[in-house]
Amino acid sequence: MACGSRDKTSVDEVAIDQHLTHEQTIKLSTHVAMGLPTPAETNEAKSNDYLLIKNYFALSYNNSKHIANWVSWNLNPSYLGTNKRNSGFNVDNQLPSGWLRVSDSDYRGYSGIYDRGHMVASADRNKNDAMNDETFLLTNVIPQASYNNQGPWQNLETYIRNYAKQNGEVYIIAGGIGEQERIGRGIVAPTDVFKIAVFLKTGQGASDVATSTRVISVIMPNNNSKINVKDDWKKFRVSVDEIERKTGFDFLSQVPTAIQNVIESRVDTLP
Ligand code: MN
Ligand code: MN
Repeated sequence: MACGSRDKTSVDEVAIDQHLTHEQTIKLSTHVAMGLPTPAETNEAKSNDYLLIKNYFALSYNNSKHIANWVSWNLNPSYLGTNKRNSGFNVDNQLPSGWLRVSDSDYRGYSGIYDRGHMVASADRNKNDAMNDETFLLTNVIPQASYNNQGPWQNLETYIRNYAKQNGEVYIIAGGIGEQERIGRGIVAPTDVFKIAVFLKTGQGASDVATSTRVISVIMPNNNSKINVKDDWKKFRVSVDEIERKTGFDFLSQVPTAIQNVIESRVDTLP
């Protein structure tokens, strides 16, 4: 696919020392303020849990699956505007040089089955070109069932964004679970997709999370035969604990354990 009609803004990657501790990483990037869900490091030897700190999100890349294990980002009005959407996806050249770098061609032949599904939504980063372009890196993308991507997943994205627009602060983590099949040169299409959103107020972080903090977490099937484009996202709500069980990750690890225990075992029921 051809790249955008406007000039590309080069993404200025954050230079990161692979020996940073997790505490230092968390201080460096607001996008992992809730904690790293895995012991990810920017270390080529850790090819299945390779930390990529971007300007506008962070992720753990899995070089066996060729998709992220998780993508984590902060959302508030400072990322939101009216910038036009980038019209093309891009290879992520921040990956080590010997690794397979996913390209558009890996998705060829799957139109209507799997979309190139953004984890950080394009519309979560539309203040300027640099922000929006970064969401189109193919490391921020997974093979995502079209009915999910264009239905309940998108509706949940909009719901979260609308909260953020009211001067809210949200921390979001998303990714795939399991392996349904492989497409292209072996890119994993996960069995399910998950998302966790922690709803805070402007300027708040992990130390402000309380037992009363709203957390929305969902698992949605990543298969068009198991999901309807008109499904209500609310019916896919589960506890964070269930996503932790199914992924083996520990989310919200910067939140004190006693508070994690409460907010991670609860299933959101608000209308
Ligand atoms: Mn999408
Ligand atoms: Mn946890």
